[in-house]
Amino acid sequence: MIMDKVQRADRELIMNIQTQLIHAGEETKAHDGAVALPVFQSATFEHRGDTPYDEIKYARLNNTPNHRVLHEKLARIAGGEAALVTASGMAAITTALLTVLKKGDHLLAQNCLYGGTHSFLTHDIGDFGIDVDFVPGNEPEAWEKLMRPETRAIYVETMSNPLLEVADLPGVVAFARAHGLVSLIDNTFASPVNFRPLELGFDLSLHSCTKYLNGHSDIVAGCVIGACDWVTRIRHRLNLMGGCLDPHACFLLLRGMKTLWLRVQKQNENARALASFLAAHPAVLRVNYPGLSCHPQRERANALFDGCGGVLSFEVRGDSRIADRVIARLQLPISAPSLGGVETLITRPVQTSHAGLSTEEREAAGISDGLIRVAVGIEAAADLCADFERALRGV
Ligand SMILES: *Cc1c(COP(=O)(O)O)cnc(C)c1O
Repeated sequence: MIMDKVQRADRELIMNIQTQLIHAGEETKAHDGAVALPVFQSATFEHRGDTPYDEIKYARLNNTPNHRVLHEKLARIAGGEAALVTASGMAAITTALLTVLKKGDHLLAQNCLYGGTHSFLTHDIGDFGIDVDFVPGNEPEAWEKLMRPETRAIYVETMSNPLLEVADLPGVVAFARAHGLVSLIDNTFASPVNFRPLELGFDLSLHSCTKYLNGHSDIVAGCVIGACDWVTRIRHRLNLMGGCLDPHACFLLLRGMKTLWLRVQKQNENARALASFLAAHPAVLRVNYPGLSCHPQRERANALFDGCGGVLSFEVRGDSRIADRVIARLQLPISAPSLGGVETLITRPVQTSHAGLSTEEREAAGISDGLIRVAVGIEAAADLCADFERALRGV
């Protein structure tokens, strides 16, 4: 009994995400004692006569040593049974959806999704005989109304882009359970450091690892985490559709993940500092960040998340030309889409992520032409605020 407890306590010690990010999946240093896992830049691996077919190692089958360590680490940090890395976030999303759903099925999807996902659900998934209805993330009554006998799954994002709305995530889990639906969540904006959807009861947690998980804006990658049964089926489909992650990208992702916790803590801090600074600035009309007390879902974010992440958006007084002037005057942020890297990036969503929407669609979504999105990096918060202070002076 006592022994049992000691062992459990030992295991609980390595349950801390900081420690898991360093060690999980890498307990054995089997490769000549190398402390860093080498890149297995090999498409195929030696086959012994008795190797069963599905244990053949081949890079497209996502089973090289570089893949396996990532799968173990991702599953452990997210509290899942199994994980799978993919060639991009979109490969994770499309392959997961095309595994969970089949011809004749119906999907409920949140109405403010990542541009690529929204486009896939609007223009492409219908070709596979799958129907979609978009629903507001905060109105469970609306989900109920659109339910059909063939509704099979519900799909949401942890925080919406670029307004940082937080959907009724516990409500989504309860709704999915009550109706026997598969619940999928794109948790890219939170990262497993700030939120672990599987602990709340989601079936599948998806990420673009291009963002926080890798964190250095130097690869494109994705992952799917969840129950063994689902991950096995998604992996089967991914292996055939070909969306495997290259071993060198696996190596970079593993290296990036070692500092995930440190980076995300700093990004949480920086975003909060910048959001507070902007909210108090007379030239700023409004700031969207779930960590601010004025955010409509502040309490939900506080209850669910360990931090609110590094993305915020804001509007300056005046039109989009003023917004462009502010962006042009800034010295630190780089004007580029994406998020979660060590450097601060800035965009006007109307020109980037939401350029595909009509003016009416954008107005309905509450995205004004002058809205500016900032994805903070790990620079000194004081330097970031000083840069914005200079850029906003006298606009
Ligand atoms: C970037 C992003 C994606 C797509 O990921 P890629 O790695 O670019 O394919 C999906 N969802 C969200 C929320 C993202 O930010």
